[in-house]
Amino acid sequence: MTSLPRPLDLLRSATLVDGSRVDVELTGATVTAVVAAGSGAGSTSARTLDLEGFLLLPAPADPHSHLDKAGSWDAIRPPAGDLPSAISCWRTYAADMTVADVVARARQQALAMLANGTTAVRCHVDVLQGDEPLRGVAALLQVRDELVGLLDIELVALCGQDTPDRDIEAALDLGVDTVGGAPHLALDPLAELHRLLDIAERRGVDVDLHTDENLDGAVTLGAFAERVAGWRQNVAASHCVRLGTLPATERDALIAEAVA
Ligand SMILES: [Zn+2]
Repeated sequence: MTSLPRPLDLLRSATLVDGSRVDVELTGATVTAVVAAGSGAGSTSARTLDLEGFLLLPAPADPHSHLDKAGSWDAIRPPAGDLPSAISCWRTYAADMTVADVVARARQQALAMLANGTTAVRCHVDVLQGDEPLRGVAALLQVRDELVGLLDIELVALCGQDTPDRDIEAALDLGVDTVGGAPHLALDPLAELHRLLDIAERRGVDVDLHTDENLDGAVTLGAFAERVAGWRQNVAASHCVRLGTLPATERDALIAEAVA
């Protein structure tokens, strides 16, 4: 019979991001003390890991992932390396993908992230078209449940302009945490922006929008910032690629408005 290894009691001589060197005392999975290197309590029988020369970081949190699309390259085979063709190929593939398929790929990716130390992930999940728009949501909810206690997965309902309000509401009802979308891709970006924010406001949930993820075209960041000023729930504007192609004065004013 194989006995499990005892948990570590001491991490010795680790370097922190500020350059200091410390010993870290552990009780089970809990850090009980961080003291100057060489002064940590550790008996000769303690399990000690010598981290001399290693940087010790908190577990990383991934703020933006798409686990429903993980590992899908071989299936969707986009002909070029650009975003529009990748989205087009993904939509063709997603039209009839199964919950089991999404679970298998998302689980594999989530476990890979966990194995590399990540313990928290914000995951955008497509609210799909067709008769079963919540297949991706169901899959990610399953993976989240499987990994509870190991990996915190926060789900964002990624909606398009064709996603009906009822499907977004249904995703939230099932346990999705946050309203998402990509207003800059809509025919009327500002109308789509306010539609999604209306839902988030009505439900009192967080918002994380793919915002102006284009090199030209719509700029919605200013209207987004203005609308959510004073909101109590968390709001994120992801990507904001368009900022990089704006004239400097316009860009700086927009950034100032967004962070105010
Ligand atoms: Zn994204």
